[in-house]
Amino acid sequence: MPVATEPDISRHLSVPPADEVKTTTCYMCACRCGIRVFLKDGRVNYIEGNRDHPVNKGVICGKGAAGIMQHRSPARLRAPLLRVGPRGSGDFREISWEEALSLAAEWLGEVRRTDPKKLALFTGRDQSQSLTGWWAMQFGTPNFAAHGGFCSVNMAAGGMYTFGGSFWEFGDTDWDRTRYFLMFGVAEDHASNPIKIALGKLKKRGVKFVSVNPVRTGYSAIADEWIGIKPGTDGLFAGSLIHELLTTQQIDIPYLVRYTNAPWLVIRAPGAADDGLFARDAAGNPLVHDKTSGGLVSGLSPEIAPAMSGTFRLPDGREAVPVFQLLAERFLAETYAPETTAKETGVAAATVRRIAAELAHAAFKEEIVLDIPWTDMFGRRHDKMIGRPVGMHAMRGISAHANGFHTARMLHILQILLGSIDCPGGFRYKAPYPKLAPPFLKPRGKPGDVQPGKPLPGPQLGFPTGPDDLLVDAAGTPQRIDKAFSWDAPFSAHGMMHMVIANAARGDPYPIDVLFMYMANMSWNSGMDTAATLAHLTDKDPDTGEYAIKRIIYSDAYLSEMVPFADLILPDTTYLERWDCISLLDRPISEPDGPADAIRQPVVKPDRDVRPFQDVLIELGARLKLPGMVKEDGSAKFPGGYPDYIVNHERRPGIGPLAGFRGANGGDYGRGAVNPRQLEQYIANGCFHIHHLPEHMRYYRHVNKDYIEWALDKGMRLTPTPVIFQLYSEPMQKMRLAARGHANLVPPEGHRARVEKYFDPLPFWYPPFEGAALDESEFPMHAITQRPMAMYHSWGSQNAWLRQIHGANRLFMNRARAVSLGIADDDWVWIVSHIGRVRAQVKLMEGVNADTVWTWNAIGKRSGAWALAADAPESKRGFLLNHLIAELLPEQAGGYRFSNSDPVTGQAAWYDLRVRIEKAAAHETAETSPRFEPFMAPPGVRAPSASPRPRGEATSGARP
Ligand code: SF4
Repeated sequence: MPVATEPDISRHLSVPPADEVKTTTCYMCACRCGIRVFLKDGRVNYIEGNRDHPVNKGVICGKGAAGIMQHRSPARLRAPLLRVGPRGSGDFREISWEEALSLAAEWLGEVRRTDPKKLALFTGRDQSQSLTGWWAMQFGTPNFAAHGGFCSVNMAAGGMYTFGGSFWEFGDTDWDRTRYFLMFGVAEDHASNPIKIALGKLKKRGVKFVSVNPVRTGYSAIADEWIGIKPGTDGLFAGSLIHELLTTQQIDIPYLVRYTNAPWLVIRAPGAADDGLFARDAAGNPLVHDKTSGGLVSGLSPEIAPAMSGTFRLPDGREAVPVFQLLAERFLAETYAPETTAKETGVAAATVRRIAAELAHAAFKEEIVLDIPWTDMFGRRHDKMIGRPVGMHAMRGISAHANGFHTARMLHILQILLGSIDCPGGFRYKAPYPKLAPPFLKPRGKPGDVQPGKPLPGPQLGFPTGPDDLLVDAAGTPQRIDKAFSWDAPFSAHGMMHMVIANAARGDPYPIDVLFMYMANMSWNSGMDTAATLAHLTDKDPDTGEYAIKRIIYSDAYLSEMVPFADLILPDTTYLERWDCISLLDRPISEPDGPADAIRQPVVKPDRDVRPFQDVLIELGARLKLPGMVKEDGSAKFPGGYPDYIVNHERRPGIGPLAGFRGANGGDYGRGAVNPRQLEQYIANGCFHIHHLPEHMRYYRHVNKDYIEWALDKGMRLTPTPVIFQLYSEPMQKMRLAARGHANLVPPEGHRARVEKYFDPLPFWYPPFEGAALDESEFPMHAITQRPMAMYHSWGSQNAWLRQIHGANRLFMNRARAVSLGIADDDWVWIVSHIGRVRAQVKLMEGVNADTVWTWNAIGKRSGAWALAADAPESKRGFLLNHLIAELLPEQAGGYRFSNSDPVTGQAAWYDLRVRIEKAAAHETAETSPRFEPFMAPPGVRAPSASPRPRGEATSGARP
C-alpha cells in the first residue's frame, strides 16, 4: 500500500507562521464563527478560531481550519463566462466584466421596463439576504427568496406563528443553567461549533441530553439517551409527551395565564363566518371568562383570574370555550396516548412516560430562581425571574417533512406548557427576536403591486394572517413563480425555491425571462428529481426553439454542477477575498445575552478576474437606476460597492446594516448616524460587535417592558405590543374559514379540502404525504440524509483536505434489517423509489432506526464538476438521494399536482422519501449509478493532477 510522505514540520517550528494576522468571519458553513487568518508573504497560511468571538469563543472546526484549501481550490472560477455551446455542455468563453455587466444590465433592463416579475432572483445559503431582498424589491419583482424554503422554514414559521421566535439564529438553550436537554433531528451543520461547545458544557455539568433522531451519528452519538424514532413521526412523539404532561397535570398554569392565549375564548358557531375565531370586545381585545367577577373581560387585562375550561355565553348568546380546553381535548385524545403513538413512532409508551416525567421534574422540581426584579408590559412588577430549566433544540430533521410545520408547533407548545420560553434554564431568544407571533410583515406581490419600471411596494417575504394577505388573484392563481403565498402553501414565509426551475420551465403560472441565481446548486444536490431538473433547465419551446427559461445568470465562486446550465456566469470571490455583513436586518449572530453582528473583510486580494457578488449586484442596481442605488443626478449611490453600502445604506433613519459603532464617532448602538469609520472600528474589534444587555433584560423578553422599549428604540421592534404565545392560531383558522367560503379570497374548489384539513388552528400529526400515497409493502423503508461534521452541503468537495474525509458515501443500513433482507456489509444495492433507482454500496450499523436507510448529503458529484478528476471517487463511488425525490406529489382528483412540500409553508419534504432496497447483481458492483455525462470545464478551471481516495482505501500519496 503506498504511504503518504510525512511533511517536514521542523521548518514550520523555527519560522514564524505569519507576518500578519487578520480577523474575519468563517464561511465554511453557516455558523459564522470568528477566525484569525495567518498570512505569510501575502498568502493564507493558517486559520484559527478567534477567542474573543461570541459565536465560537476560539473554537475552530475541521471545516473552518480547511478554509485554506477552499481558498486555493482548483474549482475556483477565474473570469466572467458567456455560454457558447448548448446549455448544460459547459462550453463557455471568457469575457470582460464590462461585457458581462452590460449584457446582464441589458437583459435585466428589458424585463424591468416590461414586466418585472419575469425576473426570478433566488439565492442559496448566501449571507446577504437583506441586500439581495432589498435589491429585488427595488427591481420590482415578487420573485425573490433564499434557500429557507428548502431548508428549515417549517421550523422558522412554526416558531414565528407560535411564539415569535425559533431555534438557532432566533434563539438558543440557556446552556449554563439548563438541567435537561432534548434535541430533535439536528445534523452537525446547524449551529455547528456553538452546539459542540454547548454539549461540552452539559457533559461537564452532568445534564441529561436526549437525542431524538432516526440516526445515531454526530451529536446523537454522545447523547445520554438516543431515541431512534421513525422519520416523520417526531410530531406524534411530541404530541404524546403533551398528552402525558396534561394527564399528569404537570404544566405551568400561571405561565399559561400570563403569557399565552390559553384562556382566550374561541367562538363555537359551526357554519358562521367567525366560527373558531377569538371572541373579542368592541376594541378588538380577546375575551376571557374572569372567575373573580364572573364576567367576560379583556384577556389583556393584567389582574384577572381567567377560566381555562368550560363553556361560556357571549353577549350575543353564542357559545365560546377557552383555547386551553380545545388544546386539552386535542391532546388528551387516544390518538396521542403513548400506547397509540408507539405503533407509529417506534418509541415505547414507557419511554414516553419516563421522558415526560423527566421533563416535568427538571421544569418544576429543579426550578431556578434568580433574584432579578423586572416589570412586564402589563405593568406587573416581578421580584424574581423564575426558570424552568428544560432546553430543546430542533432543526431540519423535523422540518423537512410534509408535516413539519405542525410538528414544530407541537414542540413549541411542549416548551410553553412547561413554562420554559425565555426563562432561566430554558429556551432564550436572540435579538432581534422575539417578534410578534407572527411578525407584522406581510408579503408583497399581489396583483397591482408589480408595475413596469417600478419597485415593489414592500418586501417579498412575510407572514400572512389571513386570505387577504395571499399573493393570488381573484381566481386563486399564484402570483409568484414558486407559488409561495398561494393556496398551495399559504404561509411559505421563506418562499419555495425548490419549485422555481420546474415552474419556470413549464411557464406555470407564467414564463420567466431571466432566472438569476446565486450560490444555489439547483441542478444537483439542491434540486429534487435531478434528471427532471436538468431537463427543465434545457427545455426548449418547440415553436421558437428558444430555451423555456430564456436566460439564466448565475453567480458562484466555484465550478458547481449549476454552472454549465447558465448563459452568463458572474464569478464570485472566496469568502477570504471580500467584504460581507452579518446583519441584524438579516440573520445575525446574536447571543441570548445580547445582539451581535459581524463583518467579513478581505484578508487577501483575488488573484483572478472575479468580483464579490454583492459588489456586482450594487453595480447592476446603479446601471439599472434602481431606487436607492443612484443619487438624484443618476450617478451610483454606492460607488465603493458593498463596503460603501454597508456603511452608508439606511433602511430607516439611523438604522443600517450594522448596529455597532454608529453615530459620527462610533459611540452609538443600534440607531445612529452613519459613521464613516464603522468598518475600521469593526476590524479593530475583531470584525464583530456584541451589545451586552443588562441582567433585567435577559429573560422574559416577550413581555419584558424594559427590553421591549429598548428594542423599539433600537429599531429591533416595530411596536411595543407584548408577544402573546399563540397555542391556538387564529390566522390558520381564517384560512380554514376561507376554505368554507367565508372570505373575500377563497381557495379554488380543488384546494378547499386541503386548506380545511391542514390549517387546523391547533397542531396535529398526520403521516407524511409520500408514505401515505404509496403502498407501504412496496416501499417499506424511509430514506434520509445527514450532514457530516466535515462537510457543509456540497461546499467541501473541492477542498483537498475535506475530500480525504468524505470522498465517497455509502448507504447506511440497520444491520439486523439488512441481514433479514440477505444484505451483507459492503454489498451493492439498488435504492428504489417510485420515480427512480440509485445504486450504492452499503455499510451496516446498529445506530439507525430499523426502517430507515441514510447517507451523507451532497457527497456524490457529477463528473466534470468542482474540478474533480474524471475518476474522482465523488462521482464513481458517491451518490445522491435527490435523484429519487419527486418534486410533485401524485396527481389528485381534477389532475392538479401539488409540490412535494408541507401544505402550510411549502417546505420541501426531503425526508419523506420512501424506498425499497434490492440487492444489486454481481456485475453491478463497481460504481454508483446513475452517472451523468461529464461536462466541459470552463477556461482556466482544471482538475488537479491527482485525486484523494475515500477514507479506508489506499491514498494516492498526493498532496494538495
Ligand atoms: S462551525 Fe462553521 S463557521 Fe464555525 S469554524 Fe466550523 S465551518 Fe467555520
